[in-house]
Amino acid sequence: MTGIMNGKRGLIMGVANNHSIAWGIAQKLAAQGAELAFTYQGEALGKRVKPLAAELGSDFVIPCDVEDIASVDATIAAIKEKWGKLDFVVHAIGFSDKSELKGLYADTSRDNFSRTMVISCFSFTEIAKRAAELMTDGGSMLTLTYGGSTRIMPNYNVMGVAKAALEASVRYLAGDYGPRNIRVNAISAGPIRTLAGAGISDARAMLSWQQKNAPLRRTVTIEDVGNSALYLLSDLSSGVTGEIHYVDAGYNITSMPTLERLAK
Ligand code: NAD
Repeated sequence: MTGIMNGKRGLIMGVANNHSIAWGIAQKLAAQGAELAFTYQGEALGKRVKPLAAELGSDFVIPCDVEDIASVDATIAAIKEKWGKLDFVVHAIGFSDKSELKGLYADTSRDNFSRTMVISCFSFTEIAKRAAELMTDGGSMLTLTYGGSTRIMPNYNVMGVAKAALEASVRYLAGDYGPRNIRVNAISAGPIRTLAGAGISDARAMLSWQQKNAPLRRTVTIEDVGNSALYLLSDLSSGVTGEIHYVDAGYNITSMPTLERLAK
């Protein structure tokens, strides 16, 4: 396979199944010639991720739970041993206790606040620090965020706070690693039906609101996100770093419900 990612090797973290955003990204990268390694969280998900990786010609599949820093170290060590270097990394990982993705943000517990921040935000910094050591010819790092970071979304709660911190991390990491020609960006995706997305209370209502009110009058797909990720992970975006790039059918620019809705 030849294409704009020909000769590039990258790590994809966050495939749970074929609905995952990370899977949409991986497919686009592989179609353009990238060689991919995958991580999975726990053996149950491993059973799903291994055949998916195989579909894209990869048998480089590594267990990694970001709550356990030893497994992050082992992942980077495995890449160093097999490839020696790395060109890009995709961090599509997020978690918060479902019972707190509803009701009031103010009711967030201290334990879940810490766990959400470590898994959904700080893991990106820990991975970036380690991956950068393998990006000896420059590189590109990408994480996934959501517009609940800057505007309140019902039920998104502590995840919104974690995404705000994640977006700030993108800018600080871009500053840290820019001098080494390593770029760090995020895609802010609109709501998509995935395992993680389903954990948010009333997810269906959010999807339907987006469909009715986004300028493109639709929700986005993992293919839409994959297309933009391909740009950010390839040399096509060689002058871009520290950006939060919205792939949300334009929803973030709106301020009030569409005129069609108001007319009803
Ligand atoms: P998903 O459930 O398919 O992916 C989430 C991934 O996070 C899973 O692969 C899961 O194994 C992984 N994960 C959770 N805890 C982990 C841990 N401790 N160690 C390692 N991996 C862990 O859902 P998705 O929607 O594809 O989510 C990917 C990213 O996209 C997340 O950061 C999510 O917040 C973000 N995002 C999702 C949406 C949406 O509407 N689905 C919108 C914007 C941003």
